[in-house]
Amino acid sequence: MTDKTPGESAPDWYAAGLPHIWLPYAQMRTARPPLPVVRTHGCRIVLADGRELIDGIASWWTACHGYNHPHIRAAVERQLARMPHVMFGGLAHEGALTLARRLAAVLPGDLDRVFFSESGSVAVEIAMKMAVQFWLNRGVAGRTRFVAFKGGYHGDTTGAMAVCDPQSGMHALFGGLLPRHYIVDLPREAESAAAFASLLDRHAGEIAGILVEPLVQGAGGMRFHDAAVLRALREAADRHDLLLIFDEIFTGFGRTGSLFACTAAGVAPDIITLSKALTGGTLPLAATVASRRVFEAFWSEQPERALMHGPTYMANALACAAANASLDLFEEEPRLRQVADIAQALEQGLAPCRGLPGVKEVRVMGAIGVVELDRIADIEGLRARFAAAGVFIRPFGATVYLTPAFTISPDELAVLTHAVVKVLGAP
Ligand SMILES: *Cc1c(COP(=O)(O)O)cnc(C)c1O
Repeated sequence: MTDKTPGESAPDWYAAGLPHIWLPYAQMRTARPPLPVVRTHGCRIVLADGRELIDGIASWWTACHGYNHPHIRAAVERQLARMPHVMFGGLAHEGALTLARRLAAVLPGDLDRVFFSESGSVAVEIAMKMAVQFWLNRGVAGRTRFVAFKGGYHGDTTGAMAVCDPQSGMHALFGGLLPRHYIVDLPREAESAAAFASLLDRHAGEIAGILVEPLVQGAGGMRFHDAAVLRALREAADRHDLLLIFDEIFTGFGRTGSLFACTAAGVAPDIITLSKALTGGTLPLAATVASRRVFEAFWSEQPERALMHGPTYMANALACAAANASLDLFEEEPRLRQVADIAQALEQGLAPCRGLPGVKEVRVMGAIGVVELDRIADIEGLRARFAAAGVFIRPFGATVYLTPAFTISPDELAVLTHAVVKVLGAP
């Protein structure tokens, strides 16, 4: 790796371990070395040299209550003493069943059958398998493709990659490996709506479902659309008898301003995927939740109609304890009001970016603030300048974004927005 490692003060474990680590989305030869972290608290990341960075992105939007929340910690500690994990084939435990019941209660429509897994990508894979098998179980053959949207991101495993944006996703690289789906423009205006309608008219018979991140396409570029788009998708799905799948792995649990984006949009999908903030950013867990109609297609005397999936660590008891504790916090603390306050502060704090050269658009929805640039020439350099300004912000593509913890203080949030304005404004 180029550049020095972060300072003389880097701990022994860092120098000794770094040559054996393979980092995500990183050209290992040229990427700047990662920052050694020793602790977290609240919205702070503490580095080995004692510096504290204010976290602008809550560890890929997971840590919605800030780091080290005492309520989640206590729940996980209790669970650790009692039973860290037990397999979910043939055995059930309180944490998972309670979590499933609570998720069913807060999700819209009749989404009430929860299949647990351990990561978002896997939850998407399961949703896709569920949709394909739904049609097979109903005696309908040939429905194995999906409609997904440009700008979308659904994960890094093979099945999920195949429904990501073809450009920002990895379709060129893995083309020969990936199944082929229909990746089209979101039906936002007349032209894209007509193209979408015509695609369904021609191909509905091979399509199992429509897959979309509702209201915000996250890792594909933090692009927003409005509820009317989702209503149009729901109508199209109903007209052609397709399943509508919402990937709320990014938007779920308050990020866009309501507990789920689909609640705000007033549109219920047939299947929803959840992960990221499900455990408040503490342990890996994901859920694929099916509506009654979907589940009923699997309810049969025939063993081969069972859903054929079962991750080893599904419904991990520690993770379920964390998720239940996280749901407690949504009930007991004013998270959605905090998100509304953050939205206002992001609006005001990022507004000065609108005047900066190279800034294409500034947009805010809930606790998501986005500054979209024409391009970012030196993304590693930009990341380093944010760290030097005392904040952890990780731009991607041409996008600088803030997705802080909902518990962030106004002062900390102001430090984040000032840093964005200052760093982007400096030549
Ligand atoms: C992060 C994300 C995924 C993938 O989740 P992993 O846990 O990283 O596998 C899928 N869909 C959306 C919308 C995401 O934001």
